This record gives sequence, C-alpha cells and structure tokens, in this order.
Amino acid sequence: MSEHEFDLFVIGAGSGGVRAARVAAGHGARVGICEDSRVGGTCVIRGCVPKKLLSYAAHFGEDFEDAVGFGWQVGEVSFDWRRLIDAKDKEIDRLNAVYLRLLADSGVTLIEGRGRLTGSHEVQVGERIVTAEKILIATGGRPWVPEFAGSEHVITSDEAFHLEALPPRVVVVGGGYIACEFAGIFHGLGSEVHQVYRGDRVLRGFDDDVRSFLGEEMARKGIQFHFESNVSAVRKLAGGFSVELDNGDVLETDCVMYATGRVPASAGLGLLEAGVEVRASGSIPVDDHSRTNVPHIFAVGDITHRVNLTPVAIMEGHAFADTEFGGQPRPVDHAFIPSAVFSHPQVGTVGFSEDEARNHYGEVDIYRSTFRPMKHTLSGRDEKTLMKLVVERNGGRVVGLHVCGLDAAEIVQGFAVAVKSCLTKAQFDATIGIHPTAAEELVTMRTPVQG
Ligand code: NDP
Repeated sequence: MSEHEFDLFVIGAGSGGVRAARVAAGHGARVGICEDSRVGGTCVIRGCVPKKLLSYAAHFGEDFEDAVGFGWQVGEVSFDWRRLIDAKDKEIDRLNAVYLRLLADSGVTLIEGRGRLTGSHEVQVGERIVTAEKILIATGGRPWVPEFAGSEHVITSDEAFHLEALPPRVVVVGGGYIACEFAGIFHGLGSEVHQVYRGDRVLRGFDDDVRSFLGEEMARKGIQFHFESNVSAVRKLAGGFSVELDNGDVLETDCVMYATGRVPASAGLGLLEAGVEVRASGSIPVDDHSRTNVPHIFAVGDITHRVNLTPVAIMEGHAFADTEFGGQPRPVDHAFIPSAVFSHPQVGTVGFSEDEARNHYGEVDIYRSTFRPMKHTLSGRDEKTLMKLVVERNGGRVVGLHVCGLDAAEIVQGFAVAVKSCLTKAQFDATIGIHPTAAEELVTMRTPVQG
C-alpha cells in the first residue's frame, strides 16, 4: 500500500471522472474526488440531459398540430416556460442526488471545491491538501465565445437553461451540435429564431447530404438562416438587442445565444507546475491509456479533446480504472463512435461521411433514400427523412450510416452495433425489415445511387 492518502484522486466529478472513481473503488482502490460545481458534470447538470428534456418539450407544438390529421380535436394550447424549467431543475436535482449516492455507495470520498496540483502527488482543494499515488484530471470543458463589440451581452448554453422567460426572438450563433439543437428547441417552443453561421451549411464535418438536408428541413420549419455571415457587434437596446452582421444586415432580438464551441477547462489546475504537457488550446495530450507525459497523472474526457462526447468520457474513465486498478489493461477504442444531434429533425450518424470514406477507402458505393415518414401521410406535415449508407466497394463493409429525421438517434444506436461489428451490405440485405418502420429502409436499399 502506498504512503499516500489515496490510491487515486480525481479532479472533476463529471461523467468521466465519476465513472473512473467508482470503477477504481470497485477494484479496491482508496479513491477521492473533488468538484467545484455540482456532481454530475456538464452532461447531467447543463448539457445532454436538460437539453434532451427541452427538446422533448419543443416537439409538443408540432405533435398537437399533427394530431388533427389523426382525428383529434385539439383545443387552444399554451406553453409555460417557468413550469418546464422548474420540472427540468427538479429532475436535475434528482440525478445530482443519484450521482452523490453512487459515489458514496462506492466508498469514494467527495471533497467539494476546486482542485489544483501543488506537487507531484499532491492536490489542494480549498484549504485541504491531499496526496495520491495516481491523479486523474477530468475537468471537461466550458463554452467559448469570441471577443467582439458587445460580447458581454450574449449568453451560452449554460445560461439558456436558466432564462427567466422564453425569449420571443432569439439569434443563435454557430452551426454545430449546440447551435442546431437550441435553434430547434427555441423555435419549437415558439420563439422566432435566426441562426447565424459563418459556413454555407450547418454541421461541418458531417456527411454533406446530411448537412444540406438538415438545413433544408430546419428552414422549412421556420428557422431563418444567415449563412456565410458572422456577428460584428451586439448592442443593447431599450428592449432587447440589435445584432449587426458583417454582411450589413441588422437583426433585432431579445436574446443572443452563442454556440461557437467549447474549450478545455484546464486553467488554474497547476498543470504546467506539475510538468503536465498542455496544448496551446488548453487540452492535455494523452496516450491510448489516457496517460499524460507524467507517468502517474492521467486525463479523460473533453479535457483531452479526443472525441468530446459523454459516453466516450465514460468509456475512457472505465478503461483507465480497469487498466490501472483492475489488472485488466485495455486501450480506448475511438473507432466508429455513433453520435446524434438532437436538432429538429434529429441527426444520427456512425462511421465515415461519403467524402471521408472516399479518401480513406477509395471506391465506395452510396445508397440513399429520401421519403416521407408514414406518420406524416396523415399529419400532412411536409417533413422528410434521409437515410444513407456508405459501403466500401472492396469487401462490401458498411463504413458509414447516416439518418436525418424522426427517431434518428434511436435508429442509429441500434445500427451502430452492426457498423462497429464490421458487417457488410450483404448482411444488411440478409436482415429482414420490421414493417412498417422507417428503419427498415436501411436493410432494403438495393441500388447504389452512383458508381
Ligand atoms: P461545435 O464545434 O460543434 O460547433 C461550433 C460552431 O461554432 C461551428 O459551427 C463553428 O464554425 C462555429 N464557430 C467557431 N468559432 C467561431 C467564431 N469565432 N465565429 C463564428 N462561429 C464560430 O461546438 P458546439 O459548441 O456546438 O458543441 C461543442 C461540442 O460538444 C461538440 O463538438 C460535441 O462534441 C459536444 N456536444 C455533443 C452533443 C451531442 O452529442 N448531441 C450536443 C452538444 C454538444 P465552423 O464549423 O466553421 O468551424
């Protein structure tokens, strides 16, 4: 047994840190963890979970309209933002309590406060100094907003979850995950939404067909896009704000929300003093076992800027704990990670985009289908679904699968097992569809769209 107070001390009790702490404790390690905000981290407190709840809420407006086509008579509806936010806060409190209980039940010591490395094996949390054989940094990230005239007037996703009232008009800046998700949430709840993005299509890095399709569907719902433009200034008005764009347009709004990326939360951790290498961007380089350049200091999750997704941080934390404390060494596997954007409509994706696959594999076959989901034959809603398979021609493996439309996230989670397991198009074809579903399209597309 080491002379240190803990075998492992974790800085940051978010998804990755909590999983690592609990698994290490389960392997018999003496584990401490510190957190300066609420246990649960970005995903639970101000990210994935509250966002999904708001996204559910935002869908009801369309559901009421769609119901009419199915014979329902819907009376006058109204929406109460305060009730939604209170209910959401209650659920987050419940999850926070679950996380606290999980840590306590695993025998992990929680110390509230901000951790800072003060020696090779030493972490200071408030007034207290703890020592540990191994240290794990899992502090995640935080929203980033560029500097410009009036940037102090804008909010980020952190604040969006706690607005006093639903803004009647919102300008969302950015074209990534968070911007598209919040544009859909605000619009679905009744705000007039303008989305300003410097690129020509949302979701850079995703498959081009998905990018175009999602943009068209969002625009059809009523999101007003301002592509290839950026904000040059935000000025406060007597009521609301004026947003000046670099193309000369001026938008008047009640709220400006920036979703221009997140940066690693590495400032003030004492990393340089402890000899831990840090990139200019603030992220920490690690090897396949999440080890930094200092052999007993590790890092998992967004702070490492590998794939910034909650389930990835959890997997990294779990693999770290099994490797270092469970006698089961395993590297982290970052290949074929599925993800979803909870925009309206949703996007689900796993594997390579068409362009990436062409660069990686050379020749590929593309199967693509656009159709009206059965629900909308009676609802009358003008909304379509896109499904796309990218198949490596030499060998027939499905190397990319993309869905934009109803239930895309749920559909792709299931198919991700097949893609991760290297299944071929022939094996997709040999699978019987479930009729009538949208997902059956993924096992019934027979003719490639281009050579
Ligand atoms: P993203 O990196 O996805 O998107 C950032 C957006 O901001 C891009 O459109 C980018 O444009 C734009 N941008 C960056 N800098 C500027 C600038 N100076 N001026 C104007 N626009 C700018 O970040 P998000 O904040 O949306 O999300 C952060 C990360 O969190 C995601 O990458 C993802 O890993 C994770 N996340 C995952 C979710 C999920 O799984 N559903 C949900 C939410 C977040 P450009 O494309 O041109 O660079």
